[in-house]
Amino acid sequence: MRRRAEPRGRARRAVAGFVLVLGLSLLALQLTEGRGTKATFPDRPNDAMEQPIGQPPTVRDEGTYQFVRTQPKDDNEPVTYDPCAPIHVVVNERTAVPGADGIVRQAVDSVSDATGLAFVLDGRTDRRPDDERQTTADPQGVRSWRPVLISWSDPDETPALKGPVAGVGGSTAVRRDGHEWFVTGGVTLDGPQLRQLLRSEAGRTSVRAVVMHELGHLVGLDHVKDRGELMYATGSEDVTEWGPGDRAGLAALGGGECIDY
Ligand SMILES: [Zn+2]
Repeated sequence: MRRRAEPRGRARRAVAGFVLVLGLSLLALQLTEGRGTKATFPDRPNDAMEQPIGQPPTVRDEGTYQFVRTQPKDDNEPVTYDPCAPIHVVVNERTAVPGADGIVRQAVDSVSDATGLAFVLDGRTDRRPDDERQTTADPQGVRSWRPVLISWSDPDETPALKGPVAGVGGSTAVRRDGHEWFVTGGVTLDGPQLRQLLRSEAGRTSVRAVVMHELGHLVGLDHVKDRGELMYATGSEDVTEWGPGDRAGLAALGGGECIDY
């Protein structure tokens, strides 16, 4: 007896219903008014350019998006990363799912394409997600912004991941002369929960969507109430790519001002 292929719709329903809450972690703001305050701003990064490294794509301003943070002097202008310098990223793979490296790369590429922001993956780290210092110094004492930390964690290490929360993400901002920039941040993922999700149909795509969502927070997107956007606060296997509003918001977040070191 030949078995008929399961209709696609039913197969999807059979695995539907995973509930992932995708959290937003708001990190600190460090205020540094005026120039010459070396306490917060490190020297100009070696790989900073005079002009933005990439350009955000041209998108139609449609759909729904919300910024995590807007400029103190203009509610419509988002706080962004510096588009003239690459965003360095390190990964703590302690509870990483199989294939995590490729999933993270694809998610980062997707944010880079949608914003025009440049990312550099600097490899692995043992750094823990609760370390929120903004700057770091090399053995010669040269200070730089700490790389963004993508951390495969668990609810024991990161209480914010308790319950259905699959990940949290956010960035920390600095202010100078009345303008703010995100300078570093983190994406913290519930490795054990995402390992389970990975086993479902289209699991890899769903896990990648979680990482994309949290990277969306990292670069400055907040949650929206529209289920068709990836920045909706509950994960769904039906929305695993950027929606129109996500794309409009990400393009705006790639078009910020450069830091004038
Ligand atoms: Zn979220």
